[in-house]
Amino acid sequence: MKIHPLKMKTGKIRTDSKISKRGDRIYPKFDLKLPHWLEEYISDPGKIYPAVEDRMKLVVELSRLNVVNGTGGPFGAGIFDMETKRLLAPGVNLVESSNVSIFHAEVVAIILAQLMVGQYDLGGEGMPRYELVASTEPCAMCFGAIPWSGVRQLVCGARDEDARRIGFDEGPKMENWSKALKSRGIDVIKDVCRDEAVKVLTDYLENAGLIYNSRSGN
Ligand SMILES: [Zn+2]
Repeated sequence: MKIHPLKMKTGKIRTDSKISKRGDRIYPKFDLKLPHWLEEYISDPGKIYPAVEDRMKLVVELSRLNVVNGTGGPFGAGIFDMETKRLLAPGVNLVESSNVSIFHAEVVAIILAQLMVGQYDLGGEGMPRYELVASTEPCAMCFGAIPWSGVRQLVCGARDEDARRIGFDEGPKMENWSKALKSRGIDVIKDVCRDEAVKVLTDYLENAGLIYNSRSGN
């Protein structure tokens, strides 16, 4: 797998639009934009992904293409309508390209899905049942976001131990996290196309992709 090198930016505060003429600080607008390649790749919004493996194969391919195109880390996700089996919103990890630590693939997919339906609760009244498919089991942050998202099911490819094995930190996640989701009415299906999902992670490691992590005491 060929990796497009990302240009790393410094941590200095940008001076271009930060102070108004009156001297007030102007904060940047919140901007979440999917990479062009992704919008082109998913060109048929009506496409049906009948089996759970079909849906996982799509998000694993998104995780691979995200690395190849240099737009972020090796993680993909998608929110699917469980009745029509259609993709509502894709997500890829945009941490590096956006310089926002919380733009994990799952969070990106959840934000886009909620903006698309115009509701902060995907499990709200009159909504179809939605499913979150993630190429790797959720980190502590994404796990925390799932009960608020309103999805009814989580499908995972690689395990968090697979992500840890290549150096990613999944954060302080509770041991029985899938049980905790189930107790809130969210079904969890694990190990779907795990080998394919793990391959993207190991290829990333072998190509010396950037590993970024949460604070862990250092
Ligand atoms: Zn995450």
